[in-house]
Amino acid sequence: MHEPDEPGDDLEALADVARREGLWFHVDGALGALAALSPRLRPVLRGMERADSLAFDLHKWMHIPFEAGCVLVRSEAAHRRAFAYQTEYLAQMTRGLAARPSMFSEYGVQLSRGFRALKVWMSLKAHGAAKYGRLIEQNVEQARALGLRVDAEPELQRLAPVSLDIVCFRYVGRGAPDEARLDAWNRELLCRLHESGVAVPSYTTLGGRYCLRVCFNNHRTRREDIELFVQEVLRLGREIAMASPMASGS
Ligand SMILES: *Cc1c(COP(=O)(O)O)cnc(C)c1O
Repeated sequence: MHEPDEPGDDLEALADVARREGLWFHVDGALGALAALSPRLRPVLRGMERADSLAFDLHKWMHIPFEAGCVLVRSEAAHRRAFAYQTEYLAQMTRGLAARPSMFSEYGVQLSRGFRALKVWMSLKAHGAAKYGRLIEQNVEQARALGLRVDAEPELQRLAPVSLDIVCFRYVGRGAPDEARLDAWNRELLCRLHESGVAVPSYTTLGGRYCLRVCFNNHRTRREDIELFVQEVLRLGREIAMASPMASGS
């Protein structure tokens, strides 16, 4: 596979601004940070390693059952200062069960907490990090394939670069309908896709244009699913456009 040729956020530039202005550099890597598990995709995330803090969700691209969010904070002292507080019932002891070098309660707002790390650790033991990296690459390839498929289809319009796993596009039909009509068509199209059970794309608005937002993060998705999806988008799009004819002459 090729590296994605369309860039995502310029994290190096953001890190430079943060350093120059004395700002905290937080990276919301909810889904994307996990692409670092693929050596081929890692360059897309260049600059992420300079973050003061990095959040990411193992329940997304690592397929861990809900929920397993993680945050890494570079400065242990700053992290502890933000959350540590003293109460009698949490006072540290030097002996007995409450004797420990650090208290988890000093790193967040939670006191009682589940052992989420176990499912993450077991999954890594069972599958290995490299396998997750390969499955992530597979999704990125699928997104690129859909992006190319959309570009080749005159009735579809891509609205954003494909840098990792997300493809944003809309049905535009033939004959240059106005923006209000396109928004209405695509809102209807999204609902029909969901209700038909064929696929569950998400949605967003880019530059004022409503569009379908397809995220590839299922390891069971196959190449042929992409073609089926495109055919359904075209079929439903035409059906919707036909039911809303444009004023004569347009
Ligand atoms: C999914 C996502 C979130 C929400 O994270 P949860 O931990 O699942 O609530 C935040 N930011 C981005 C960029 C996301 O993709």
